[in-house]
Amino acid sequence: MIPSLLPTYNRTPMSVDHGQGSWLVMADGRRFLDMGAGIAVNALGHAHPALTNVLTEQAGKLWHVSNLYQIPQQQALADRLVEETFADTVFFTNSGTEACELAVKMARKYWFEKGEDRMRILAFEGSFHGRSSAGIAAAGSEKMTHGFGPLLPGFTHLPWGDHDALEAAIKEPNIGAVLIEPVQGEGGIRPLPDQCLKGLRDLCDQHGVLLILDEVQCGVGRTGRLFAHEWAGITPDIMMVAKGIGGGFPLGAVLATEKAASGMTAGTHGSTYGGNPLACAVGLKIMEIIADPAFLEDVRRKSGHLRQALEGLIAAHPDIFEEVRGSGLMLGLRCRVPNTDVLARAYEENLLIVPAADNVLRILPALNIEEAEMTEAVARLDRAASAVIAAAA
Ligand SMILES: *Cc1c(COP(=O)(O)O)cnc(C)c1O
Repeated sequence: MIPSLLPTYNRTPMSVDHGQGSWLVMADGRRFLDMGAGIAVNALGHAHPALTNVLTEQAGKLWHVSNLYQIPQQQALADRLVEETFADTVFFTNSGTEACELAVKMARKYWFEKGEDRMRILAFEGSFHGRSSAGIAAAGSEKMTHGFGPLLPGFTHLPWGDHDALEAAIKEPNIGAVLIEPVQGEGGIRPLPDQCLKGLRDLCDQHGVLLILDEVQCGVGRTGRLFAHEWAGITPDIMMVAKGIGGGFPLGAVLATEKAASGMTAGTHGSTYGGNPLACAVGLKIMEIIADPAFLEDVRRKSGHLRQALEGLIAAHPDIFEEVRGSGLMLGLRCRVPNTDVLARAYEENLLIVPAADNVLRILPALNIEEAEMTEAVARLDRAASAVIAAAA
């Protein structure tokens, strides 16, 4: 018999009662150190007082009015994002996959209005852009698309890190946009080197192609810059944001230049819940805290500390771990044993981390995690690794 919850997830039998900062208290009372932050969502940890206050205050005033009317919180958040980034304009969604939908529609509408047949979009193997029809077509993997055809046409997939393949493909007729994660998340924390992102921007400019960045996982301070592309000193034409921007409240956004957004006139797109007062009040507070240069500097400092500790862990367990990679507080530990073996032992140590493709364990703590908590997390990983070795002996 089918369970009452559609069984699309392999859930760990773990039930969280409440959270505080980087700690989660299970229904049975166990306290877990949370190094996953709901897959890079709880950017300021759990039950952050400033976020709780702003949400409950807004909840007492107004939840929803519809985008038929002005929403001051939405306007304020858009203004703030425009002020802080390359973007001239913002559309709010409730999730990353909805941001993907709009990013694809926007790019296609841009070329349609120019009267050019450039509906094809280049995307990359190992990428993840959400589970909508556009999202799975953009990612293209067998795992995500199997059984869901006919797929949204127009996506061409290139191997990750193959500059020659990119250079050849981008010259082809009908290419209108390139869609890429500056740091692949689900794909196993695979960062695109700054030089490659610069080169990609140059190629896009050379061929008049729009650059769409998916910063749903790597954006909003996660890499130690407000957005990951800032490390390469380039800007996209369109950017997808979600996860951290809501800190756990559903919120996503598409940011764009005036040029890229020029086809999106009144009536061309919409969302009932997108940009509602609750989500935008929270998003605005998140931006206030995370866009502060001192906060981002702190993320970079913590990243250095955590990375160094993880390098020590690899040196201590060379049979278990191969390398640490990533950027800021978006780090991946590539394993030499099945990552799920280490994950199971980490759970036994009351530590939450997140598996990814390429046999990687993701370490995505709250950006405001304390140094002592990171040290504790690495100590727990060290015990988990020892337990894997002991079990194999
Ligand atoms: C999580 C994620 C998405 C999808 O976001 P949802 O909010 O789950 O729809 C898209 N792109 C990337 C890079 C992601 O990590």
